[in-house]
Amino acid sequence: MYDPNNVFAKILRGELPCFKVYEDDQTFAFMDIMPQADGHLLVLPKEAAAEIFELSEPAAQAAMRTTQRLARAVRAAFQPDGLFIGQFNGPAAGQTVPHVHFHVIPRAEGQPLRRHANEKQDPAVLKAHAERVIAALAELA
Ligand code: 5GP
Repeated sequence: MYDPNNVFAKILRGELPCFKVYEDDQTFAFMDIMPQADGHLLVLPKEAAAEIFELSEPAAQAAMRTTQRLARAVRAAFQPDGLFIGQFNGPAAGQTVPHVHFHVIPRAEGQPLRRHANEKQDPAVLKAHAERVIAALAELA
């Protein structure tokens, strides 16, 4: 069952703020408020689906297209050694917000990730990082 009052549904409806980096008809992307590394962002299909099993094929395709686009932009903006893309289904898998989303996380060699959904980042830092991603997206276009 999809909970229309989950935090990402509220962000998608504009009822809660976020540092948005990208939006189109089917997808939406913004900075993770508790980033596990600098540049950590989230890509969401707009379709109301809690887990990947319920997502329609067109929405899944759109989400993956946007995830790839954002991964390229994060790579260009932060020049990490590597880049992790992940998606959790259900609390047992580590999902904390029940709306499908893809994590895009830059990785530095030998540097552990900060803990998942643990510590809020300074909004000024998130804003600056969002601006870097938006600038990189414009360069890639
Ligand atoms: P999940 O554990 O469901 O895969 O990931 C949820 C992610 O959303 C976590 O990385 C967490 O830091 C992030 N998050 C939780 N609440 C908010 C919020 O209100 N705004 C933003 N931008 N990110 C959030």
